[in-house]
Amino acid sequence: MSEINPDTYLARYASRTRGMTASEIRALFAVAERPEIAFLAGGMPYTAALDLEAVAEVTQGVIAENGAWALQYGGGQGMPELREALVGVMAAEGIAAHPDDVVVTAGGQQGLDLVAKLFCDPGDLIVAEGPSYVGALGAFASYEADVVHVPMDDDGLDTDALEATLAQLAHDRRPVKFLYTIPNHQNPAGSSLSSRRRERVVQLAEQFDLIIVEDNPYGLLDFKGELRPALLSLAPERVIYIGTLSKILSPGLRVGWVAATESVRDKLVLLKEAADLCQSNLTQAVAQRWFATQPWQAQVETFRGVYRERCDAMLGELAASFPAECRWTQPTGGFFVWVRLPHGLDAKQLLAKALRARVAYVPGAAFYADGGGGEELRLSFCFPPPERIREGVRRLAEVVHDEIAFAHALFGDQE
Ligand code: PMP
Repeated sequence: MSEINPDTYLARYASRTRGMTASEIRALFAVAERPEIAFLAGGMPYTAALDLEAVAEVTQGVIAENGAWALQYGGGQGMPELREALVGVMAAEGIAAHPDDVVVTAGGQQGLDLVAKLFCDPGDLIVAEGPSYVGALGAFASYEADVVHVPMDDDGLDTDALEATLAQLAHDRRPVKFLYTIPNHQNPAGSSLSSRRRERVVQLAEQFDLIIVEDNPYGLLDFKGELRPALLSLAPERVIYIGTLSKILSPGLRVGWVAATESVRDKLVLLKEAADLCQSNLTQAVAQRWFATQPWQAQVETFRGVYRERCDAMLGELAASFPAECRWTQPTGGFFVWVRLPHGLDAKQLLAKALRARVAYVPGAAFYADGGGGEELRLSFCFPPPERIREGVRRLAEVVHDEIAFAHALFGDQE
């Protein structure tokens, strides 16, 4: 075969792929997979805490009782019995929905992709928390949408800042396609939207005629099992809700869903069929049987306990060994702690030193579409055992202490 000039492909790529690069997290995985590294970077659920025998039994049951059907194509909206079970999962969070409202997707990630595909032309605006989920930013970028960030604090999205942003955009006649928000135990910030602010977000949505995309992978992973009202419950006509089984069962099943009003749902089914015809019948059937035959809430409780212990280990060690000049969030659920370094420190530059000290995190810039986050970083406590987490935080603390001491030596106390 004759050699082909590599530019032959490059010249033909669609313009929307130009800005696409591997996320900071993915690029990190290659180095950080080494066993000596305390890996506080990834957001992998701790699937070893699953009752794997029960999963085996459920999977075996699906094949034994309904194998030919489970190995067949299915409908574009997803298996009706599974959609019923997913309505049960939403009900556990206080959300009233109907199986007809639900479209099953390949994880929440495909939900984000399809929603962006449905709403976004190049240059369209999405408003999102700053920082926000890197996978959502990637999906939005792939449709060439622009993201305007609104800052967060310990109570989640700052609703005064949201109001100011929406007012400014309205004044500039720049329409907003939707607000993308993760109200519970946000990835990456670890904070949750307070109940009062939820009311305010919904009120602002009315005032500014806003659609909300509510992404909720972590709602059931509140350490105390506390629930705050879903935006979908507060404003069902304005909210497109994205759920997933990745954190309460398994990301390997690739089962997520979108709950939305009929017209949106119909379009999503068409987009889903165009993308991959249908969700895997096999994994849908396994998930459905899991909910029908297993104490799934007890499994969620087990996960909660695992993550609570790991979060306590991380917060305890941060308090014990991190420099006083740093700030971090106090998650009450989910997988992540967000750390703010002292002014002038660069989380990306610090990463090389951290890796040499055998600890990995994700620099904050990965979670902003606008170049922000230079002095911020994400630590995850979901995967390593508590002792490893403490060790990793201690190693990172040393690196940060050294960096601060170095900055003081260079610049004195002029800041
Ligand atoms: N949204 C958020 C906020 C997430 O953290 C994740 C997973 N990291 C997803 C969506 C997508 O997960 P999945 O596709 O496995 O459901």
